[in-house]
Amino acid sequence: MLGLGATALAAVGCDALPSAQGSDVPAQRSHGRPVRVCYTPDYVGSAHAFETTRKARWVADSLAAEPIAGVELVPNIALTEAEVERVHAPAYVSAVRTGEPRALAESQGFGWDPELWRMVLASNGGVTAAVATALADGVAGSLSSGLHHARREHGAGFCTFNGLAIAALKALDQGVKRVLIIDLDAHCGGGTHSLLAGHPSIHQLDVAVDEFDRYQPTGGNTLDLVGVAKLYLPTIQRRLEGLGHERFDLCLYNAGMDPHEHCPVGGLSGIDQDMLARREKLVFSWCRQKKLPVAFVLAGGYIGPGLDQAGLVALHRLTLTEASGR
Ligand SMILES: [Zn+2]
Repeated sequence: MLGLGATALAAVGCDALPSAQGSDVPAQRSHGRPVRVCYTPDYVGSAHAFETTRKARWVADSLAAEPIAGVELVPNIALTEAEVERVHAPAYVSAVRTGEPRALAESQGFGWDPELWRMVLASNGGVTAAVATALADGVAGSLSSGLHHARREHGAGFCTFNGLAIAALKALDQGVKRVLIIDLDAHCGGGTHSLLAGHPSIHQLDVAVDEFDRYQPTGGNTLDLVGVAKLYLPTIQRRLEGLGHERFDLCLYNAGMDPHEHCPVGGLSGIDQDMLARREKLVFSWCRQKKLPVAFVLAGGYIGPGLDQAGLVALHRLTLTEASGR
């Protein structure tokens, strides 16, 4: 029912990461080839049920019921414990695996159960797999969320492991020269910055509308905290244009939908679905224009009195639709 039949079981994995030297990187998606988006049912395996641990399935189910032309779900390989420890402290990784000490295992802000470990290895592995696919195809994604607040020593803000940092460093390990992380989640990406700030080959462009996890950007990284909706898209555009002279080989896009005005966690009055659709067009058009491979993830997005589950799924589908380029 989720398009994960036998023919699709050739899992996308980091082993498929190609060389990323100069012209070996595809300029953009091959014409007519579907955009591959990683998802397995393990992404929603934890017992604690709320948006971050369930919406990947909501989006996957919506694609089964109402496909987006040019978007294909594919399974991915989960991360190994050693891959997680590339970024996170072994004591914290052990806590997430075993549940003890419980306070550390639940430091991201929701209840631990034995399936959490499998869930976060799968959903963080989706980011790494999406990067590998983007480097081959030009654009790819993963229905992952709960990434950008996670620290080396603990979780934060519903984020257990920081798959953005893990995927960025793995790409560099395997030959990518320079990585751009665009974080447009409503909240600041302080976890990612704490893990990667100062890395000479990684640039973080962060435009937030809520000061949660605010940080002082260093080393040329930028963080804009937008307080008025009319400045939202111009700020993103100005920051993208400001990178016009820079050369990147990979973009990781944390495509949070929680800036939406009806999101109870992060929403800013005046940011509506149309504005977020234009945001997605802005980002993906810029990547296409720069011939920059882009791997996106869902990131934040929460149900509230003015935004039901179908409405939230519709917002995340904006990213998938624009990624497909159709
Ligand atoms: Zn957020």
